[in-house]
Amino acid sequence: MNPLRKYYLPLLLFIITLSLTCSAFAQVPLRISIKFILDASGNRPATGNLNTDAEINTEFTSAINILARAYTEFSVDRIEFVDLSGLSQWYSTSAATTTGRDQLRTAAIAAPATYHWRTDAINIYINGGTSSAISDFPPNNNIILMNQWCGNTPSCILHEMGHSLNLMHTHEPCCTNQDACADTITDNSSWTKDQLAQNNYGCLYASCTASQKNAVDLVYNNVMSYHTDEPQLRLSPCQMDRVSSQAYGDRNWIASKIPVYVNKYVAGTSGTFASPYMTLQGALNAGGLDNRVLVLQQGTYTTSQELINFNLLDIVTRSGPSSFSLPGVQKYILPVELENSKNPGVSNAIKSVQNEDRSARNVEKTSAIAETNAVRPEEKAAIRADANARAKFHNDNAIKGLLDAEQFAESNEKLAIQLELAQRYRDAGDCGNAIRFFRKVAETTDQPGLKEEALSQIGRCDKKSNIGK
Ligand SMILES: [Zn+2]
Repeated sequence: MNPLRKYYLPLLLFIITLSLTCSAFAQVPLRISIKFILDASGNRPATGNLNTDAEINTEFTSAINILARAYTEFSVDRIEFVDLSGLSQWYSTSAATTTGRDQLRTAAIAAPATYHWRTDAINIYINGGTSSAISDFPPNNNIILMNQWCGNTPSCILHEMGHSLNLMHTHEPCCTNQDACADTITDNSSWTKDQLAQNNYGCLYASCTASQKNAVDLVYNNVMSYHTDEPQLRLSPCQMDRVSSQAYGDRNWIASKIPVYVNKYVAGTSGTFASPYMTLQGALNAGGLDNRVLVLQQGTYTTSQELINFNLLDIVTRSGPSSFSLPGVQKYILPVELENSKNPGVSNAIKSVQNEDRSARNVEKTSAIAETNAVRPEEKAAIRADANARAKFHNDNAIKGLLDAEQFAESNEKLAIQLELAQRYRDAGDCGNAIRFFRKVAETTDQPGLKEEALSQIGRCDKKSNIGK
């Protein structure tokens, strides 16, 4: 608180909307190492705000939620709890001034094993001191010393990380625009909410306009304010930019996953925060996105790329919701209206398949109504069992019809029928027959997209059938 400084998705116009996520690590995780400095008897303090693992975890949960709800691209990754013995000379070191923090940092860098000092995370040292907490600004932003009575709420750790990522207090008389952000109004740490409103707009908070109230809230409820009588949850766009800029510069040591930025309003070329790709397609074309986090500045994006491997690439939105659409994809061409085939053996067999399919759907429809109307559970169960049996009869007949049609069909008509058989066997749980027909398709077709699809279906069925073994 102290300010002194592989499953691919082929998609048909698939629109994905990204909004809030509270998942801890879909976003860009910033690495934090928590170290407790123990007293001479090997104990943590028994009382305080930050003496138990649970208290720390509560702070982290709050931080993760605040960062997500503010639409930042970041999360926090608490990589460890470490209890440090043999360093009790630091047990009461005060976080009220920079002196103790700097001495601790110097000692830790000189003996990294003893102090469990990390060069790939922010090192948070927690002791039994009775003051608040003190972070450091870049470039020495790899240490935070925390005593037990930090008053920022709900997350003192997030407030201190704000300083590590180059944020000033909203009341800081340090720079142009006070805190170096023009979008936060003039603040004083001792002001009430009414005084903040009055000194900026000449109105009591309750009498201010909606936009004035919002500007007051943005500062009064700011993560970097001292107004701790209300939760500190907000970050301004300027503050978010400062954090993104700093974290991007420090990405190689602080981030568990590297962000790649896409911003439709900025014509950049490299995916950095300062020079983001302007289009989603530009980022995809550049490649190298495995295990990266694609950060979309709020907006709507499109791509013509049919395959995005979401297992390897996280996508998050920044500043507000984003959406992106993947236009239509066609991997192969096969005939569809086989009931009109010039080959009568095919057309007749396919017509019988359509009849059986229609009958199966009717069974489902009428029995669903009967099931809903039935009162007793055993009555419902009897209706369901009867419906399943009758539907199976028609479904089996449909398969027979397709097998008939296959005998008569040639070339692409034959492939379309074999593919249909494979899919129906697959969906009925008959992986053996499904694989048999997918294999026929893969071995016969000269369309690469169809071959790839059939082979990948075989792979999935193989996996599924192995699970039970
Ligand atoms: Zn502070």
